[in-house]
Amino acid sequence: MNPALGYLTHLLRPGSTRWRPILAVHYLTYACEFRCPYCSDGTGKPYHQLRSPVLPADRVLDLFARIRRHCEYLVITGGEPLQHPEFNEILARTAALRFRGVILTTNGRHLERALPAVAGSVTELVVSLQTMDSAKADLEYGRAGAHRQILDNIECAANHSGRKYDIVISSVATPENLADLREVYQYASERGFRLAVCPQLVGVKAHSALDNNPAYRELFDFLITRKKAGDRIQGTVDYLEYMRDLKKFDCRPFTMLVVGPMGEVFYPCLELGHPAGNLLDEPDLNRIRRDGCERYGPQPDCGTQCHSACALGFSRILANPLSLIHEGYLMARATG
Ligand code: SF4
Ligand code: SF4
Repeated sequence: MNPALGYLTHLLRPGSTRWRPILAVHYLTYACEFRCPYCSDGTGKPYHQLRSPVLPADRVLDLFARIRRHCEYLVITGGEPLQHPEFNEILARTAALRFRGVILTTNGRHLERALPAVAGSVTELVVSLQTMDSAKADLEYGRAGAHRQILDNIECAANHSGRKYDIVISSVATPENLADLREVYQYASERGFRLAVCPQLVGVKAHSALDNNPAYRELFDFLITRKKAGDRIQGTVDYLEYMRDLKKFDCRPFTMLVVGPMGEVFYPCLELGHPAGNLLDEPDLNRIRRDGCERYGPQPDCGTQCHSACALGFSRILANPLSLIHEGYLMARATG
């Protein structure tokens, strides 16, 4: 569905029981060679500890084609998606499906060798970076030399000819790296990369040491100020204020479609993680939603939790459409 139409449908018909996602997220694999201490799925388990069966490239492409019938935007994530054994083939063939946007999230360690496949199909390349301190980062990753390699790969990605992707640096704000993120901001800003910052989630909640943490709040105040000054900070000002305050928001999980490595659809979201059907067996999303609703109940009212980019982002632009107009104004001012 056209994304503007999808947005309007969610805005004007919030009680609809149809499933019309604006964006799909596919966990290509849960495997990851890193051991970041902040890694957590909705139950608090690190992704690399989850069982991660491998779907062959042809089946992944079949799955993407089914997703494409429902969505114009696809996020390919993990784990570390580049650890799928047929990653390059999958990415190269994804271009033919003509998504309006393909967003790839990666830890960046092996990005260089995947760049030819990535360049032709990905519109947003999202690389995770929590600090500019290589020794500290390598300790967290559990891999010596990895941070330097990631920085080199980002430079390669930025200079790759024929790329159609924008580069986004994505940072997890933890109680331990709040000062480091000023340097990450500096790094991203000097190179013209967009910066996206989210709080560390432990299961479905922001880390308790971030709530009312003055350094955490100051970081977001800084990002809001820089955003208003025209810097490329991800999210509307309204969204960043919600991130800063870790305020309750009305989640709208059916704006998204989250699909696991084998095609399993999570109802209503990855975080709650109820398997509600497999898109490779059942292409009708409305039927999957109906089944999910019968087994697990309707859209939940989740309380103060899941301050993730997608969950909070969609919730806020639906609750406060004016924030989108303000975003447009800031973008026009920055580019004009
Ligand atoms: S790179 Fe991502 S998936 Fe891998 S351990 Fe770190 S947070 Fe988890
Ligand atoms: S807040 Fe949203 S994404 Fe998080 S568990 Fe609830 S429904 Fe899922």
